[in-house]
Amino acid sequence: MHPFGGIWAATPREAEAVAVHGRLRECPDCGLIQRLPPLPRGAVAHCSRCNAVLRRRRTDPVGRSLALAVTGLLLFVLAFSLPFMDVQVGGRDRATTLLTGPFELEQQGVWELSIAVLVTTLVAPLARLSALAYVLLGMQLRRPPRHLYTVFRWVEWISPWAMIEVFLLGVFVAYTRLVAIAHVEVGGAVFALGALMMAMAAADSVLDHEAIWEGLERRGVVAGRVPGHGGPLCGCDSCGLVSRATLACPRCGAHIRPRKPDSLTRTWALLAAGAALYLPANILPVMTVVYLGRGAPSTILGGVQELLGAGMWPLAALVFFASITVPVLKLVGLTTLLISTRRGARTRLRERTLIYRIIDSVGRWSMIDVFMISILTALVRMGALASVFPGVGAVAFCGVVILTMVASQSFDPRLMWDAAGQNRR
Ligand SMILES: [Zn+2]
Ligand SMILES: [Zn+2]
Repeated sequence: MHPFGGIWAATPREAEAVAVHGRLRECPDCGLIQRLPPLPRGAVAHCSRCNAVLRRRRTDPVGRSLALAVTGLLLFVLAFSLPFMDVQVGGRDRATTLLTGPFELEQQGVWELSIAVLVTTLVAPLARLSALAYVLLGMQLRRPPRHLYTVFRWVEWISPWAMIEVFLLGVFVAYTRLVAIAHVEVGGAVFALGALMMAMAAADSVLDHEAIWEGLERRGVVAGRVPGHGGPLCGCDSCGLVSRATLACPRCGAHIRPRKPDSLTRTWALLAAGAALYLPANILPVMTVVYLGRGAPSTILGGVQELLGAGMWPLAALVFFASITVPVLKLVGLTTLLISTRRGARTRLRERTLIYRIIDSVGRWSMIDVFMISILTALVRMGALASVFPGVGAVAFCGVVILTMVASQSFDPRLMWDAAGQNRR
């Protein structure tokens, strides 16, 4: 069996057909199976029905991505070894590193926040960069390791949880609030993080996933098992290969599922849990700032009012959007999409798909406030002189952000098109 195929090609003739006519691809947003012609370098292929990006063909996808991933790893080491910020209040000095925040959160008894911050700023970005560098390096070897396809599948799976860019915005908000009461010295870790964010963004923008999968195919590093060959054409959720396999994807080994399993029920359940936490997240205090022996607990909205009171309205608008508008947008938006899908609505499919894409991409930005609380808790620890304590509202808020993120990941937008009778299956 030849590893190239419009579908998973069974014969060299089919493989030749792919070279001439291109590959089949299922649109992840609307479910339309269409043939992607061989693309010139730099070209972008859009879905002919819902305009989703199906593929961006890059120049030198392996070399550039590898260089950027290795640069990212070096910057990671720098960011976590250099000093983060130094704070002086009334002659007292406190130095921190990036790990001080999660450590202090754990000491304050909010280990849930500690884990959330550790996973999104350390574990996920580091795992993603290392896995990517490992796959790209492994591909160059004379005999590439067999498990590369599994590792590359992880890269896609981890991506949404790496939030360096959101953390940096949290650093900026925390810094702005701190300079009002303290002298703050920014350490090398902040600059390393800035450079790391740019390296990761650049690595993402030059990465051509399909080209890497094709490279792995050429080297024979694929799952290769084709159990139950002969089912209907179905796209793989993980690597995008369209095949007739019924159990596991012959390229990346992921389970073949025509649609995300129990998508609507799961999304409803996660949304309900998120909505239940929404009220405590907004009513309970997210942190308490003690300054010169006095202090009061403040809520998410209180934080926005403080920024407004200090005349920092662009920052206040940003935090209001990320912490208050985005969670409501996600809860209301996903509920609307769920109801319209269940009712089999046939109108505005492109618009609803676009709403889904927006909800799915902005969700992570709500973590700004969680990061800001982690940073302030780490930095401001000077007893009655100046201290910041995390509040239980922050745990509820973090819960809302994570639950709604998982909810939007478990919603399958293709079901909207199925329900409207657009996909014949
Ligand atoms: Zn589409
Ligand atoms: Zn696959």
